[in-house]
Amino acid sequence: MEIGIMLSVAVGDHPGQEHLTPDEQLKKAKAVGVNNVQLGCPPDEFLAGDGFMSLKKRIEESGIRVTTVFCGFEGESYADIPTVKQTVGYVPEETRAERIEKTYAISEFAKGLGVDAVAAHIGFIPHDEEDPLFQAMVETMRKIADYCAQNGQVFSLETGQETGEALLHFLKAVDRQNLKVNFDPANMILYGCGEPIAAMETVKEHIVSVHAKDASWSEHPGETWGTETPLGEGDVGMDRFVDKLKQIGFDGYITIEREIAGPEQIEDMKKGVALLRSLVEDGKERKGK
Ligand code: MG
Repeated sequence: MEIGIMLSVAVGDHPGQEHLTPDEQLKKAKAVGVNNVQLGCPPDEFLAGDGFMSLKKRIEESGIRVTTVFCGFEGESYADIPTVKQTVGYVPEETRAERIEKTYAISEFAKGLGVDAVAAHIGFIPHDEEDPLFQAMVETMRKIADYCAQNGQVFSLETGQETGEALLHFLKAVDRQNLKVNFDPANMILYGCGEPIAAMETVKEHIVSVHAKDASWSEHPGETWGTETPLGEGDVGMDRFVDKLKQIGFDGYITIEREIAGPEQIEDMKKGVALLRSLVEDGKERKGK
C-alpha cells in the first residue's frame, strides 16, 4: 500500500478547489513528500496536442507517478447536497452526451500518460431500479466502461453518493468487469450514506483504489453536509480504515484527499502521510513479532 495525494479537480465548482496549473499541482506532491498522485481532470488545453505533450514531459521529469485520472465536468457544483444531485456526473440529461464524450477524451489523455485507471463521481444513482434514470445510468456506465476497456483501463466509481448496498446493486446491474470502486470513506459520512467500514465490506471485491479522507457526521445526515476534517480527527477512524484495507487484502494506492487550499492543505497532507505510514507499518511489525 503506497501513499499518495489527490491533486485537485481543475474544472467545475469543488470545495477547496484552486485553479492551479498542472505544474503547480505537481509541486504539491513534492512538498508533501510523495511520489504518486491521482490527477483531477486538467483544463482542456492539456488534454491533447502540444499542451498534452508538454504536460506529459513535465510529469515524466517530475518522477511522479499518476495512478488515476479523475473526470470533472463544466457545470458541476458541490455547493450543497441538492445542488450535487442536480449537477454532478452523468445524471443531468442535458449534458450527459457531452460528458460521455469528455470522458472518452479523458480516457485517451490517461492512456497517453500510461495510466490504467479513470474515475469519476458519476452522480446520484436512483435507488429505485424502475426509475428511468437508473437504466440511463446503467447504459451510460456500460458505454464508458467498454470505451475504457479498449484502452486497457478500469473505470472507478467514487463512493459516497449512495449506500454500499446500492452501489453493489448498481455494479451488478452494469455488469462490466472493468467497472470498479474508488472508495472514499469520508464521502459516506459527508453525504450521510452509511457507516464507511461496513460499506467497504459490502463492495470489497470491487475496490481498486481508495481516498484517505476524514469527516464528521452532519446533525442531519443526507440533508446537509458533514464536515471534512484532517485525517484522524473525524469519524472514519483511520486505524479501522487501514485495518480494513489490510483485512480485504488491498494492495493498491492510498490517495490522501484534503479538500482545502493553501499551506494548511500541504501541512494536513504531510501529517496524513505520517499517520497512514505508521498505521500501514503497524501491522507489518505485529506480523514480524
Ligand atoms: Mg474522494
